[in-house]
Amino acid sequence: MSDGFQASGGWIEVIAGVMFSGKSEELLRRVRRATIARKRVQLFKSLLDDRYAGLYRVSSHDGRTSEAIPVDSAQQIALRVDPGAQVVAIDEAQFLDAGVVALVTSLAERGRRVVLAGTDTDFRGEPFGAMPQLMAVAEVVTKLHAICVLCGSPASRNQRLIDGRPAPYDSPTIMVGGTESYEARCRACHQVPRRDEGQTVLPGFGAGVRGGTGVRG
Ligand code: ADP
Ligand code: ZN
Repeated sequence: MSDGFQASGGWIEVIAGVMFSGKSEELLRRVRRATIARKRVQLFKSLLDDRYAGLYRVSSHDGRTSEAIPVDSAQQIALRVDPGAQVVAIDEAQFLDAGVVALVTSLAERGRRVVLAGTDTDFRGEPFGAMPQLMAVAEVVTKLHAICVLCGSPASRNQRLIDGRPAPYDSPTIMVGGTESYEARCRACHQVPRRDEGQTVLPGFGAGVRGGTGVRG
């Protein structure tokens, strides 16, 4: 799809969607095709902790893997970008800081093709990290869907479960080492209970409603 997009200089592609929607598969497909086209490709993956030293693998849920450089900030990517790289791919972009927007803009302006994959909404269904800004500045945005595990419809939401029950709205956006798990669900089957379920909360007016962007736990 976006393999067909060719600008004279660089450009930015974003692959967005929920968990299990095939973002890593699609990112790795584009990386493989760029490699076949004899482009010099560098693959980064943002990490939440530093347990993984050295090279790390980007794995998709179908088991395909590719070596990736682990990073936990936009600055680390800036420091480690190979000046000869023609394609820069970044997985799990939702975990990177806001500096990633300026970084990928600068890479594109210097002639690089940048491909980012990331979960565009958090477990609440709200915009995640820098993903909205990245989708805005990109030339090409691909939004993928998983399959809702409850009803079989296209899934556009990440359902977080803690001990098997829907996680409440005010639980942290990122739970490192938590006991939670995730399911792909459609809008109708997605559940985000509030602690004060009895109260009616209007969007933008409720005590628990946060701003639209950059929600981090
Ligand atoms: P992402 O990077 O978006 O989390 P992956 O590329 O890692 O997704 O994995 C996508 C694969 O996950 C699918 O090809 C499919 O085999 C598998 N999968 C597991 N659960 C689901 C689901 N509920 N909907 C769609 N695919 C699923
Ligand atoms: Zn559903």
